[in-house]
Amino acid sequence: MNTAPRPLLDRFGRVHTDLRVSLTDRCNLRCTYCMPPEGLDWLPRAEVLGDDEVVRLVRIAVERLGITSVRLTGGEPMLRRGLPDLVGRITALGPEVSLTTNGIGLARTALALREAGLHRVNVSLDTLRPERYAAITRRDRIADVFAGLAAARAAGLAPVKVNAVPVRGVNDDEIVPLAEFAAAHGYRMRFIESMPLDAQGSWNRATMVTADEILAVLGERFDLVPVGRHGNAPAEEWRIAGTDTVVGVIASVTRPFCGGCDRVRLTADGQLRNCLFATEESDLRALLRGGADDDRIEAAWKAAIAGKGPGHAIGSADFVRPERPMSAIGG
Ligand code: SAM
Ligand code: SF4
Repeated sequence: MNTAPRPLLDRFGRVHTDLRVSLTDRCNLRCTYCMPPEGLDWLPRAEVLGDDEVVRLVRIAVERLGITSVRLTGGEPMLRRGLPDLVGRITALGPEVSLTTNGIGLARTALALREAGLHRVNVSLDTLRPERYAAITRRDRIADVFAGLAAARAAGLAPVKVNAVPVRGVNDDEIVPLAEFAAAHGYRMRFIESMPLDAQGSWNRATMVTADEILAVLGERFDLVPVGRHGNAPAEEWRIAGTDTVVGVIASVTRPFCGGCDRVRLTADGQLRNCLFATEESDLRALLRGGADDDRIEAAWKAAIAGKGPGHAIGSADFVRPERPMSAIGG
């Protein structure tokens, strides 16, 4: 049998090379734009893929399907026990591996993650003000995030990116301070438009701060030099003139990048999603646990991508919210 990778192609000619793997749907924060104060009905542990199952699926993706980058996310992926070991097993398969985290616990683990081969980290931080952080995340943990960021940089996880979701009337007055903070510490700053993927269903277009607004605010304070987009990356980037600081904006709602999408997502319970906004999933866990061989899993994966739609329809009458919130899909 020939196991050379064959591209994961959909019917619009998009080739999928980026896999997002959710390692848990649980979280130690309760960000207001993501989940309710009481949390969610977490997946029963038996339903969550074990390390061997995750590694097997990533191996099939890398060896047979042309996946070249893997991002580990959640929920909060740092809550996964033995994360450095799992990272080491995944990096050994060859892809570039990155992590999206709220940064809590990173101070303790950054070096072990780097030694396990982790390449890059994105840390979520929506405000620099302790009281506001506690209000947004409903936990008083901003000091842990600052320590995690510093540890990531010291461990050589480069570049360290800071992700912020501006929300009108909540933290939209911190767009410039966050960019200045990133510049001062050598991090890259990325602003993300809020999306209708919160568990409570309370997303409201009026509170979303758009890419145009973010850029207008940044443009008043800095000279921005366009860097463009790296390949199919969702962030459009600008460099602050006279510095090495790069700021990016991910405008999923107002400037969708579906036409160049190269992503596929695996939930913590082993469901393959061909889009963040997909309303259908493919049950790879059932195949894994039912004794399917690699050929069968590869075929199911390809079929899932072949059925991918052209793009999301946020803002149109046709838009259907996915049943799972962002934290249970893997952001
Ligand atoms: N817990 C980790 C974290 O916060 O980085 C990883 C998972 S979280 C779902 C991934 C990213 O999604 C974070 O940067 C978070 O700010 C963002 N996010 C969560 N809910 C969102 C929403 N409704 N719209 C846009 N981004 C959201
Ligand atoms: Fe947790 Fe990340 Fe959602 Fe915040 S955005 S509640 S840190 S999963």
